[in-house]
Amino acid sequence: MSGSKCTRLSGALVKQLLDSVDSVLFDCDGVIWRGDQAIPGAPQVVNLLKEKGKKVFFVTNNSTKTRKMYADKMSTLGFNVTEEEVFGTAYCSAMYLKTVCKLDGKVYLIGSNALKQELEAVGIQQTGVGPDHVAGKQADWANVPLDPEVKAVLVGFDEHFSYMKLNRALQYLIQGRLFVGTNSDTRLPLEGGKAVPGTGCLLQAVETAAQRKAETVGKPNHYMFDCVASQFSVDSERCLMVGDRLDTDILFGSNCGLKTLLTLTGVSTVADAEAHQKSGCADRQGMVPDYYVESIADLLPALQG
Ligand code: PLP
Ligand code: CA
Repeated sequence: MSGSKCTRLSGALVKQLLDSVDSVLFDCDGVIWRGDQAIPGAPQVVNLLKEKGKKVFFVTNNSTKTRKMYADKMSTLGFNVTEEEVFGTAYCSAMYLKTVCKLDGKVYLIGSNALKQELEAVGIQQTGVGPDHVAGKQADWANVPLDPEVKAVLVGFDEHFSYMKLNRALQYLIQGRLFVGTNSDTRLPLEGGKAVPGTGCLLQAVETAAQRKAETVGKPNHYMFDCVASQFSVDSERCLMVGDRLDTDILFGSNCGLKTLLTLTGVSTVADAEAHQKSGCADRQGMVPDYYVESIADLLPALQG
């Protein structure tokens, strides 16, 4: 394949790239859908890849849905996908705690109900989901009741995040409990230049309070690939990662030794990629994709031919 990076993928190169891989990992938001709408052509691309015998997986940093919820959303949007092909950070964080950390105890969870469900599905009990607004005096906050069975603090996306949750996490972490974050995306871009705070903001608040760094499960760390590879036979050299963000998806692909493809239907631009490339900084080269396309629909002609 072509030696230079950040090449526009078109014409014969598309088929050449697809022939060189057996598995394709897709980021979700900004790649196969935006919010509740499928990217036009995305369901056909995914379904045709599968029909042609490619293994297809979905790796999303969004911890607010279970695998089942993703599979249901995908089937509503026309994707022919099973739960087992979906690797979201809710499921992967549960797997990480169980299989890597070998957690023996409960989790203090700052996170969604979906995260609670994925923890429970692997046999991990949690405390903390839902609002926590206990009123009281400052002196009492350091003495909030703690669950002695809690052995880890897990931070994911939590719409009920509060001072008391931050405080409770600190009290557990002062005692040296394990500290895991689902992902560190700081900003979730929305249509029209709008944005909302991502999980990274919550995680950084807890890290600041605890004066410790969490281990993070999501992209760009390689655990989600390890998780896929532990369940399916995937050869990293014959695997393509497709994403819309350079600092999460493309860096993740580079960290895992995968071929990388940036789509321009989400966050990052070609100019962003070229800025990394031209910086000459060794530690920014992992954020330069091998290829880019306007949209994954650009893969369609090669699959239909
Ligand atoms: N985290 C949350 C809470 C989100 O809502 C999203 C996107 O919607 C993400 C992370 C990023 O998801 P992805 O990795 O699929 O781009
Ligand atoms: Ca994305």
